[in-house]
Amino acid sequence: MASLSPLSPLSPAACTEVLDTHCHLHTGSGQSQMVGAGAVSMAVAESDDWDMLAEWLESGPDSAAASASASPWRIGGYGTHPWYATSVVELPSLRVDDLPTDATVSAAVASYIARLGDRLDAAAAAGHTVIVGEIGVDKFRGWHPQAEADGEVPDGYAEMSRNGRNRLAFNIAQKPLFEAQFDLAAARGLPVSIHCVQAGGYLFEFLASASRRGLVPSGVALHSVSLKAGLITSLLAIRGPLADVLFFGLSPAINYSSPRSAKLTDAAIALIPREQVLLESDLEEYEANEQAADYTPLVAALAVAWDATLAEVIAITSANARRWLAGLAPSPVQSC
Ligand SMILES: [Zn+2]
Repeated sequence: MASLSPLSPLSPAACTEVLDTHCHLHTGSGQSQMVGAGAVSMAVAESDDWDMLAEWLESGPDSAAASASASPWRIGGYGTHPWYATSVVELPSLRVDDLPTDATVSAAVASYIARLGDRLDAAAAAGHTVIVGEIGVDKFRGWHPQAEADGEVPDGYAEMSRNGRNRLAFNIAQKPLFEAQFDLAAARGLPVSIHCVQAGGYLFEFLASASRRGLVPSGVALHSVSLKAGLITSLLAIRGPLADVLFFGLSPAINYSSPRSAKLTDAAIALIPREQVLLESDLEEYEANEQAADYTPLVAALAVAWDATLAEVIAITSANARRWLAGLAPSPVQSC
């Protein structure tokens, strides 16, 4: 199985499937960067990206058909990533006349949610299996790094400190968009995949309130988690329906990308119950490389923490992925 080649160091576990709970399409080629026996590929913006995802879903076995074949199955995530929130809630410039009012923001978000709902309906009608993602909040980036590099940050915001403009984008555009997408997933009983960078305090408050209100998606994955230990402890202490559906995704690409993130990850692994850990590649075009697709260091760290074998780690995290997906994933293929 060519799709499993990056995992060759884990050959003792080859009979057990790795499920990639968060990856992206390779812009231009439409090929997924998935690594494993099944994958959930996330769109990050409307229009082109959603169309590309639809084509990818159309061209391969979805979760219903894949159980009859050995091909990796496909699930699609439709949503808008926080780096693209300002494409929904537009911030044309920092001039007073150009600032969106509350009514403008509400109308833009409502119209977007209607389009997202239509997409989810169309995908379901075409027989595809879908979730809501990638959504989230990011106080470190209000715009995509490429947009910043290309000078596409609007007038006024571009002249501010990076910290200042990102906080404005977070407050004005990201929060209302994230909350509406989360609520849509809850209303439709779908799982979500959430990106959160430097906004953990806000995310904790929001999730605790959603759990109190009983408005929770069928599965909630915080992906490539790089949250401080205190925040993870707080998230794990939230009571109510969220407690049964909260998962923490870890990826070699992000979680072991630097000594600092490795340290955070090791502290997180010690705190998160093994029933709540997901594996993901989180590969995307602008940073994808073969090395990053190797799960070995991550699986080995989990094996040490859990006093388990590599095969057991893969079996546990795959079972977790199925619970996060709430029955959307096909039954495992018995290949050996
Ligand atoms: Zn992602």
